[in-house]
Amino acid sequence: MRYPCVEISLDKIKHNTEKLVELCEKNKINVAGVTKVFCGEPKIAKIMVDGGVQILADSRIENLIKLREIEIPKMLLRLPMISEVDDVVRYSDISLNSELKTIKELSKKAVELNKNHKIILMIDLGDLREGIFDEKEIFSVVSDILNLDGIKLIGIGTNLTCYGGVIPKYENLSRLVEIKKDIEMKFNIKLDIISGGNSSSLYLLQTGEMPKDVNQLRLGESIVLGRETAFGKNIHNTYDDCFKLIVEIIEVKEKPSVPIGEIGMDAFGNKPSFVDRGIVKRAICAIGKQDIDLGDIIPYDKNIEILGASSDHLILDITECENDYYVGDIIEFKLTYGGILKVMTSEYVKKIFI
Ligand SMILES: *Cc1c(COP(=O)(O)O)cnc(C)c1O
Repeated sequence: MRYPCVEISLDKIKHNTEKLVELCEKNKINVAGVTKVFCGEPKIAKIMVDGGVQILADSRIENLIKLREIEIPKMLLRLPMISEVDDVVRYSDISLNSELKTIKELSKKAVELNKNHKIILMIDLGDLREGIFDEKEIFSVVSDILNLDGIKLIGIGTNLTCYGGVIPKYENLSRLVEIKKDIEMKFNIKLDIISGGNSSSLYLLQTGEMPKDVNQLRLGESIVLGRETAFGKNIHNTYDDCFKLIVEIIEVKEKPSVPIGEIGMDAFGNKPSFVDRGIVKRAICAIGKQDIDLGDIIPYDKNIEILGASSDHLILDITECENDYYVGDIIEFKLTYGGILKVMTSEYVKKIFI
């Protein structure tokens, strides 16, 4: 085995996907499985499809291109860049949009490529990331979209708990339902989709407060970590350890806990400070800040304390460990969302599927 590696349990991811799809189906909600945290790795995306997601969704078109062989609709989550509309129309079936200028470019490209591109219009319900905030603008944009060739408006959506940390509630999501009905009445059209957010909307299914016309959720973190993200609670009967980071020890020595000499700057230009705990037993592992952030890795061995890292070295205090660690041994960590994102992005961390 080569280290560092991230061990990915496809069975656990499939199980989590099935549980969430089941919960959503009970509420007549389709699931778009979000693949961005694992960089659109096709093996994992396929498992999500096996687990029942109806759409694969990612914020980066590069990731959707990796998934082009999987025959299921693809949705681009991040508002398209005008410079990428060619790829967007070629490799995604649906994109989330809020800018008429971009939608016009998508239309031109769709006509040129003889394609039909579907869009979901994003409404900002107060989280203040993407979406149309002003109600008048919604209707004028819809009116313009309906005149564009190659573009089909299939629904409206929102994103919460991302920038502003706003929690989805019956009150804010039911505004989305009202806006959808208003659009349908005013323009005499039918919109198929109300996309009611991400993993932070899931708790509303558990409490029975989801407005009943919401029929799509876009789920990433809840599938990979078994966690809803409004309150950070674990979801019953799901795994939180689908991804495990494994690193190798390259030095084990007893050393003082405070450096010797005048303290200047560390490898990242910060002035470090130290607590004197006398002599400690430390292990250095071959991974570093290039691949992980210290707050994103959680040792399985509860007696390990993370002391610090430079770009390629992770330093652990193993004084209190019952287990004896030697050079060449491995140490295992659970990962947070940010941790999974970073190790999956790092080309130095091998990906092992089990
Ligand atoms: C990332 C993203 C999601 C998925 O969010 P999770 O919290 O991982 O479920 C959904 N929608 C949009 C627009 C996103 O960017």
